[in-house]
Parts: sequence; structure tokens; C-alpha cells
Amino acid sequence: MAERLKDTSRLCIHTITNKPLSLADCIAGYQEIGATGITVWRDALQPQGVKESAKMLADSGLKVVSLCRGGFFPATSGMAREEARNENRRIIDEAAEIGAPLVVLVCGAVPGMELARGRQQILDGIDAVLPHAKKAGVKLGIEPLHPMYADCRSAVNTLEQANNMVTVLNHPNVGVVVDVYHLWWDPFLKAEIQRARGTILAFHVSDWRTPTRDLLNDRGVMGEGCIDIPQIRGWVEDNGFKGHIEVEIFSNEYWAGDQTRFLKRIKNAYLRHV
Ligand code: ZN
Repeated sequence: MAERLKDTSRLCIHTITNKPLSLADCIAGYQEIGATGITVWRDALQPQGVKESAKMLADSGLKVVSLCRGGFFPATSGMAREEARNENRRIIDEAAEIGAPLVVLVCGAVPGMELARGRQQILDGIDAVLPHAKKAGVKLGIEPLHPMYADCRSAVNTLEQANNMVTVLNHPNVGVVVDVYHLWWDPFLKAEIQRARGTILAFHVSDWRTPTRDLLNDRGVMGEGCIDIPQIRGWVEDNGFKGHIEVEIFSNEYWAGDQTRFLKRIKNAYLRHV
């Protein structure tokens, strides 16, 4: 069990958490609650473009923790797989441009494609773009997704599978992302976090609501669900992770509400339940 967090000096917010806000409003809101890091959803770059976004982020003083998201490597045709790799190379370039040291990978899956085959295509895809990532000075984080997304979002569903890929790829620019929402149920989580020592590139928090009303967009604020977040944070920190703790809440309910109030609630929940 980790010690209680005393302040917001390691707090990072993912802009998808405040989907209704522009990048400028996210920056102002995060500064207001004392967060020091920001992860940028790629869509948030679009209205003002990558170049202007990069300037806004640099001027903000917030640390850009990552750009979300790359991945989606598997496809039924070779041409589509090649296009996916090119798209990932563009994402890597954008990450470098906004000063993000990390691209988070939602690895992808094709409904009906055997999962093992999907994982092989993911491995081949990451392997193909790693030289580009290295040149750009950007790392790639394999984020295992909860098995409920194994049909169409990711064939990588456990930290074991992600660790296996990191072992095979054996490259300094690839590691794993630990997201409590996706991994809290895994009986081997503690052992796999130990195995990931030195390659944990990011740590994401939210909570699991009961019942979950929507498979994609019903994540809870930390403390309102059943995940023992301090325990998992303790495991990643015991294994060398000292980076930002990133709040990532996809929620139709919270997106419909007042974002300033929501951010205050996030700050309080961060200090009490993470
Ligand atoms: Zn995540």
C-alpha cells in the first residue's frame, strides 16, 4: 500500500476526461487545480493545429505526459496494415512536435480475427514503427485493455501479454502502460507489475462502477468504484515508477456536467483515493 499523496505535484489529467473543453480551457482548468501534467487526446490538437497546440503547451508550463493514441495495427489486408503503420508514424511525429515523450498504444483488434493472429500483427506493427519512434525520441507504451474490448479495440488484454511483447521487441523505446480500469481484476497483476519493472511508462487511474452502464463511457471518479487504487499504485511505485499519475475518465455522465466542478472533484478524489 502506497503512502497517501500529499499534494497535486504528480497529478496529470488526460484531456479526454474533459472532452467538452478546448485544449486552452483544459490547460487553464488543470493549472487551476494544481495539476502539473497533461496528456493530450489527439482530437484536442485539431481545432488549432499541432503547431499552435505545441506552443500553447510549451507556454503552459505543464509537462506533456503523453499523446493518445496510436495503435490499431491489425487489419485484414496488407495495405490497411501498412496504412496503420504510416498513421502511427504521423502520430509519433505529432508527439515529438508537442513535446510528448510517449505515445500510448491502443493496439487494435478485428472482430472475427483470431486474437493470437491479431497479437502477432500488433507485434509486427510496433516492430515496424519502432525505428521511427527512436529517431523521433518518442517511446511507445503498450496499454492492455480490459477483455471486454477484445473484439474490436485491443487483442492485448493482460499485462502479461504486454510484457511478453516488450520482451520480444527488446527495444529501449517500448514499454507498458498500467491502467487500473483495465487491469484491476487480474489475479497475476502484482507479479506482472514486478516483471514490468523498468518498463512502466505511464499509470492511469479512474474507477470501476457497479453496474457499468456503458462499456466505453461510464468510468467512475477514483473512490466511487471497487478498484483498490492505492494498492496498485504501491505496486507500480515499488517497481520503480515515479512519473505522473494520470486521471483518465471516459464518462458520458461527467461530460454532460459542469467541468469546473468536475475538476475540483477530481482533485479531491485524487488526494483521498489514489
Ligand atoms: Zn488508460
